[in-house]
Amino acid sequence: MVVNLSEQNSLLSNWIAEIRDEEVQKDRMRFRRNLERIGEVAAYEISKTLSFVDNEVQTPLGTANVKVLKEQPVVTTILRAGLPLHAGILNYFDRADNGFISAYRKHQRDGSFEISLEYVSCPDLEGRVVIISDPMLATGASLVKTIQYLREEGHPSEMHVVVAIACTVGIEYVLRSEPNCKIWCGAIDDELTAKGYIVPGLGDAGDLAFGVKVQM
Ligand code: URA
Repeated sequence: MVVNLSEQNSLLSNWIAEIRDEEVQKDRMRFRRNLERIGEVAAYEISKTLSFVDNEVQTPLGTANVKVLKEQPVVTTILRAGLPLHAGILNYFDRADNGFISAYRKHQRDGSFEISLEYVSCPDLEGRVVIISDPMLATGASLVKTIQYLREEGHPSEMHVVVAIACTVGIEYVLRSEPNCKIWCGAIDDELTAKGYIVPGLGDAGDLAFGVKVQM
């Protein structure tokens, strides 16, 4: 399942416009905050698909019948670019457990790259709803490697992927490999460069949020 969150008019489209805009991108705090806001909206939309239970709470004036989320999800992200989107999702699922994964492109001299998955810090995922965030779904290689790892190690009950901008080939690759995962996108672009950048996309999300990295 793929949901394009900008299919309907909403404020989310303004935030997508701002993260793409090379002038607005100069304001790094606004770039991070916009990703966070996209994460907040995605979390709210995901919450509509989760299970709720009836409960009672005591107000100062009586007893209210309420509905509350049945189980807390595990909110995970891919370091480092995923951190602002993760913060937004966590603002809404504010009692969630958290997981962090470092998956990055290890570039070769010929321009090709392989995905290196190094640091993983996750709670027990058995039977849990897992939400993975990564701002850019480009080739899908790092997401697929991460999802496969989490699925094999932890056996989650549901996988949700939150991305700010996805490209069509990346979505297809993820769904071919993980047909049951649900992908929530802020926007969908058609083109991918030979180096794996989304066009028009926005550039390098990690660099824009945190500063230009050097290849080690
Ligand atoms: N990662 C990014 O930050 N940008 C892209 O366009 C693709 C992957």
